[in-house]
Parts: sequence; structure tokens; C-alpha cells
Amino acid sequence: MQLPNLTIREIHQLLLTKKISSVELTQATLQRAHEIDPKINSYVTITDDLALEQARQADECLAKGENITPLTGIPFAMKDCISTRGVRTTCSSKILKDYVPQYNATVTNKLADAGAVLIGKTNMDEFGMGSSCENSAFFNTCNPWDLTCVPGGSSGGAAAAMSAGLCNFSIGEDTGGSVRMPAGFCNVTGIKPTYGRVSRYGLIALVSSFDCIGPMTRDAYDCATVLETIAGHDQYDSTTFNLPVPRYTKNIGKSVKGMTIGIPKEYFVSGMEAGVESSIQEAIRTYEKLGMVVREVSLPNTKYALPVYYLLLFAEASSNLARFDGTRFGLSVADNAKDVLDIYLQTRREGFGDEVKRRIMLGAYALSAGYYDAYYLKAQKVRTLLRRDFELALSAVDILLAPTCPTTAFKLGEKTSDPLEMYLSDIYVVATNPAGVPALSLPAGFSNNMPVGMQLIGKHLDEQSLFQIGHAYQQETDWHKKLPSI
Ligand code: GLN
Repeated sequence: MQLPNLTIREIHQLLLTKKISSVELTQATLQRAHEIDPKINSYVTITDDLALEQARQADECLAKGENITPLTGIPFAMKDCISTRGVRTTCSSKILKDYVPQYNATVTNKLADAGAVLIGKTNMDEFGMGSSCENSAFFNTCNPWDLTCVPGGSSGGAAAAMSAGLCNFSIGEDTGGSVRMPAGFCNVTGIKPTYGRVSRYGLIALVSSFDCIGPMTRDAYDCATVLETIAGHDQYDSTTFNLPVPRYTKNIGKSVKGMTIGIPKEYFVSGMEAGVESSIQEAIRTYEKLGMVVREVSLPNTKYALPVYYLLLFAEASSNLARFDGTRFGLSVADNAKDVLDIYLQTRREGFGDEVKRRIMLGAYALSAGYYDAYYLKAQKVRTLLRRDFELALSAVDILLAPTCPTTAFKLGEKTSDPLEMYLSDIYVVATNPAGVPALSLPAGFSNNMPVGMQLIGKHLDEQSLFQIGHAYQQETDWHKKLPSI
């Protein structure tokens, strides 16, 4: 039995019926991670001791029949930008290489309370800046489907660990596609929830007004289960909705007949890989067979999505990253420092990688007096237009369907010399974050033997429909069950 590749609910049954214990499962997962991960490099830190301790506690709950949740005893991995008390949290940056948080993120606490077992922290583009995981200060992560290809970014480690069976779910973070794009590249299901649905407390901020924590799983059902656990109001994050969390699995299995899909015409333009386009067309036909109504819709401001996203990202990130100055968190370089400014400069010069520096400089420029109105303010106004595009399109249909990426995973090194090329690979995923709407990426086939991702975009707070419609597709297809031969 290949335990790492089972769904959460399959393992839950094995645990409930005592066919396996969480300690056995955790030991097997850790062993597999130590054996296989040196080929993939998905983990920055493997938390052996903590995992075994959490597994022992989970087994106690299972033995007593107390506090059992669907995640009790299930091994998971977490992107290394989410705070874990006592466990190094690096953002894959030199500046936080040895930073050990003194508190847990709300998501970390919720998963611990649910009895999930943390196997380790996963590699990412430094501070979430990138689309290939190649901006990690530590090492590149490889795509388990082809080790010469990128896993996508920035949550590349979390997706690769899932795909290679080194955990049973993982937690990523999506500021502009960082859950969906690697999920698409690695044949995993992943969701960016509605902005404000999941607490960001303890998430090391990239863009506070875009950032969303979201799960990666084997299928839509599992994704609903994990989101239900981590979502909800948090007194420590005032941007979270003060609304009850619905049962995200509630509509799963209900017929999708008569529901409507909008196909945004701006997302189907030249430049898309032929195999990606044909997979998406095939998925549309699958939905038609299920009785869904498909119609074309327009998101007319799509052409501004990428520049607006990046401009606002540069601005907010440059401000958020000001806190890393050598006097509070992580690295401090003070060689013969003349004054405190010298400590700031030396630490940041040494601690940040090239992409982070590039974005901080561009952000500081966009926010500076004289340019603020022309760039930052203008971009905020266009952001409202992007949001209205989604509201209008989604007022006529239940969900939108689009590719997750224009291509499948590209080769390691292929885009590193041209930042603009790299930014362009985000073309389909970035607009949802300024707009705040939820989006689910699902495995939808293969092109040249590499996974293709399809994205379902929903109305604010309507994750339920995404899971219902995503699950309906996964009942008709088995792309999500395909595994790399690693
Ligand atoms: N590719 C996006 C970027 O580089 C990903 C950001 C994210 O979602 N963390 O900004």
C-alpha cells in the first residue's frame, strides 16, 4: 500500500479502523522524505521529533476516541513563511536563515489543535517572490515529474512534496498564484481562498492586501476538508471575515447540472501551449457532458492585471520588508558599523537576494513623493476595475474556468536571466488576488508528459461551489490520481 499517495479521508478510515497508527504513518513518511527528498529538495527543514510527538498525541486521541477530527494524525508540510514556534521559519531567505519564531501562526495552531502532524517546512522563492522556486537562497526544488524542470513558485516546495508523496497535504501561500501555479505544475489540487477567509496572523507578509494561505491536496474533497479547518475569524487578523465557516464539503456530490461556467475570452489568446489549450477545451466538454451551461464572458481589464499586480506588490513588499533591518529579526551584519544606518545597509545587502532587492527598489520608487500618484494610486484605481470585472462576469455565471498557466513546467534556468519572462508566466493567476476572489486549481491532463492545471474562479466567499464543481470534474477524470514515478 502506498500510504503517502492516499487521500486524507482514506487515511482517516485506516486510522479509525486501527489498520495503521499515526506513529507508523509518520515514521514511514519521514523515512520516505529522508530517502527521496535529496533528489527533489522540497523541504528546508524536516521536523522529525515534533512530528513523532504530534503523532503520538494523535494516536492517544484515536485510542480514547476523543477530539478526533478528519485531520487527526495526518502528516502535512508547510511553506516556510508561516510561523512555527520553536521551528526555524526562513522564507527561504538568508536574512531569516536562523530565525526561530516565538509564536505560532493562527493556521499552525489550528492544524495542531486538529491533530495534524507537521513533517516539515518547505522551500519557496525568497519571501514568495518568484514563479519557479529558483529564488530560494538555499537551493532549487525540482519538479517530481521531471527533475530538470521547475516545480513552479513560489510555494514550489509544498507542491513538490505533495506530488512526490512526502506528506498527505501541504499548506501554501498565494499572493499572486503561489498556491495554484505550483499545484498546476506538479499535478496537485490547490486553492487560494477568498481574501480574509483564512487568518494571516503569523504569516510573514509579502503583500498584506493580497496574501492568502491555502491548502494543496490530492483532490477537491480533501482541499475542502483542510480549508474548513484553517478558515475563520481571528481576533489577531482584523481583515478576517467575522462569519461562520460553512461546511465546505456540503455540496460535494450534488449535481452540477444547470450550473453555469464562464470562459473569459481574454484568457484564450496566442502564446498558450497547444497541449494546455486542448486539455482545457477537453475539460470544458467534460462539464458540458455533466449538463453545465458554458458561455463566453469578458474580463476587459485583464491586460492591466500583470502590471497592476506587480506595481502594487513592489510597493507593499518594499514597505513590509523594511522590518528586516538587522536590529530585530534574523541576520544582523554590523562589521565595523559606523552607525545604525550602516547596520541596516550591511544586513540588507548581505541578507536579501537579487529579486528581493529589485522589488524593494522598484517599490520604493513607486511610493516616492512625485511618483506615488502616477504609479501607486493609479494602480489602486485599476485594481478596483479588475475587481469589478470579476463581479460583473460572476454575476452572470456560477464560476469562471481558465488555464492555471499558459505552459506546463519550464526547465530549471530557462527564465532566470529575464525577470519579465518569469513575471509573464503568472498572467492567469495574478488578477484574482487584487480582486480578492477565490480560485481552485485542479489537475486537467498532460502536455508533453507534464501536468496541466485548470483554474476555477468563484464569487467572493463561494468556495463551496468551487469544491462542488471541482469534485464533479474529478469524478469524471482521473488526472488527479496520476503520480510521478519518483
Ligand atoms: N509569481 C508571483 C510573484 O512572483 C507569486 C507571488 C506569490 O503568490 N507569493 O510575485
